Amino acid sequence: MLAAAVFGGLSTLTPVPGQARPVTVRRTVPEVKPRPVPPPPDCSRVKCVALTFDDGPAESTGKLLDVLAARKVKATFFVVGENVVRYPELVRREHEAGHEIGDHSYTHADLGRASKEKARSELTRTQDAIRRVSGVTPVLFRPPYGSMSKRLTGITRKIGLAQVLWTVDPLDWEHRDSEYVKKRVLKSVKPGYVVLMHDIHPTTVKAVPRIIDRLAAEGYVFVTVSELFGGRLTPGKEYLQLNSGEAQGLP
Ligand SMILES: [Zn+2]
Repeated sequence: MLAAAVFGGLSTLTPVPGQARPVTVRRTVPEVKPRPVPPPPDCSRVKCVALTFDDGPAESTGKLLDVLAARKVKATFFVVGENVVRYPELVRREHEAGHEIGDHSYTHADLGRASKEKARSELTRTQDAIRRVSGVTPVLFRPPYGSMSKRLTGITRKIGLAQVLWTVDPLDWEHRDSEYVKKRVLKSVKPGYVVLMHDIHPTTVKAVPRIIDRLAAEGYVFVTVSELFGGRLTPGKEYLQLNSGEAQGLP
């Protein structure tokens, strides 16, 4: 009986002529690339800095991703929803490289002055666009123009977005000059700071390798925004820099 049962079991694996074997079917399913997850550094002990890039993606974002990959640096991208739809592959690349992706509204709108309906729509449409492309719903929001309001804070709290501002702003959108951007960033960075730049400007992208190399030589570790704050960001709350003061002797 046992032998017959085993034989019967084996016989079901024998391919039937003209029919695909199950193993062949499995091979046609594309493999899901696991997102790389190295342990994040403890930013209360090491010199961390979060590089953030707003307004993209754009043509120049691809070059920036090459620069970051070559140096194994992680960053945070605050993307504009309509650009996510325009360049889905770049957003996918950002995600697969382990960068963090945040919401920067759908049309780069002034949400601090927008109606409740408009603000909510700008934010949720961007969340949806990012999720469709990367599979991940963002938990960070950077207000365009830094424009905020109590009403906007209420909305972000409800839809699960922490509000991320910055502590270093080289005004790269105004100064399309790589040397100027590099100097402004290097002059202002301190441990625990959040640096605001724009990957839509080739002049900024050109400044990034020199900014990274110099900060790395000074012992800085590059982290995403969520890593900087220990992965515990509260929806609705505003974040500017790590330990706004005492802990690391920050101003
Ligand atoms: Zn912006």
